[in-house]
Amino acid sequence: MGALPSSHYYNTMSYFIKKSCITCGLCIAECPEGAITEGTPYIIDPALCTECGACDEVCPVEACQLVKKGT
Ligand code: SF4
Ligand code: SF4
Repeated sequence: MGALPSSHYYNTMSYFIKKSCITCGLCIAECPEGAITEGTPYIIDPALCTECGACDEVCPVEACQLVKKGT
């Protein structure tokens, strides 16, 4: 099982999808927060992202990058 604790209240980083995204859609299925939206490139809502890294793990082109929130 292993439900992850919510880190909404203390995480200060968010994943960001770079232009190198090939719009394969793999990350959207993996995001437990529903933070990813289709687009070119795909977009991550920093308010929802909990830095879990699932998108980064599945991305075939390493387009998901960890950045500081609110900057
Ligand atoms: S790091 Fe996790 S929560 Fe954030 S966008 Fe990627 S899969 Fe979603
Ligand atoms: S997994 Fe990577 S390449 Fe595929 S849609 Fe997501 S960010 Fe883009």
